[in-house]
Amino acid sequence: MGTASDIKLIGDDGLRLDGRGLDELRPIKMEINVLNRADGSSYIEWGGNKIMVAVYGPREAYPKHNQDINKAFVRARYNMAAFSVDERKRPGPDRRSQEISKVLSEALESAIMTELFPRTQIDVFIEVLQADAGTRIAGLTASSIAVAAAGIPMRDLVVGCTAGKAGGKVVLDLSKDEDNFGEADLPIAVLARSKKIVLMQMDGDMTLEEIDQAHSMIFSATDRIYQIQREALESKYTVDASQWGE
Ligand code: ADP
Repeated sequence: MGTASDIKLIGDDGLRLDGRGLDELRPIKMEINVLNRADGSSYIEWGGNKIMVAVYGPREAYPKHNQDINKAFVRARYNMAAFSVDERKRPGPDRRSQEISKVLSEALESAIMTELFPRTQIDVFIEVLQADAGTRIAGLTASSIAVAAAGIPMRDLVVGCTAGKAGGKVVLDLSKDEDNFGEADLPIAVLARSKKIVLMQMDGDMTLEEIDQAHSMIFSATDRIYQIQREALESKYTVDASQWGE
């Protein structure tokens, strides 16, 4: 987080630098089954984020000491491509991507019926091709539909969004500038229908009232994003009967 005085994040017209209102999402597009060799896959564009997800499994867990006789082991691996950010990122795992991989694995595990697949592992590879703030949430939201596309039974989809504080206001879905120069960043992911929180992290400072406001913005946004997830899943599985003629 930088200092708010570095840059004016909310204009005199009450709009954000990219022209959005305070509770407006960036454009989001999702698609499933974009890779041939994966069991399930997805691609998401969320603002300037571009992320590809490939899911493999359930397959026998390896090494064997990772096998759990009661359930599948969910292993998400979040990776940012060297060309995904302005300055070339040093390739390979770093502390940030290890931490994100861990929290995303746990969030996905709560949605997957892992008890049906003892001794197996489910690998979820999240490759950030272009990063523009909010990559952990965009990657998790895309992972959830890639797991569904792999035919892995799930209790619910995982869907998330961030909110935070920028230019003294609570805003939804932080842009890169708001993430860098704003006062706070609060990514949250929930199980879509039950709204049970499966990921919540906060960076920066907000009052309790502001956190409440951020929560309600996020919860209403996750309903809209869940709709986009369902449309992405349904569009690949719905048969257009009109092409069959009379
Ligand atoms: P998230 O992407 O989930 O918001 P962070 O808050 O850690 O995660 O990062 C915010 C943004 O900062 C990222 O989306 C990316 O655009 C940028 N960023 C993160 N790590 C790096 C890095 N190593 N080099 C350059 N930019 C980075």
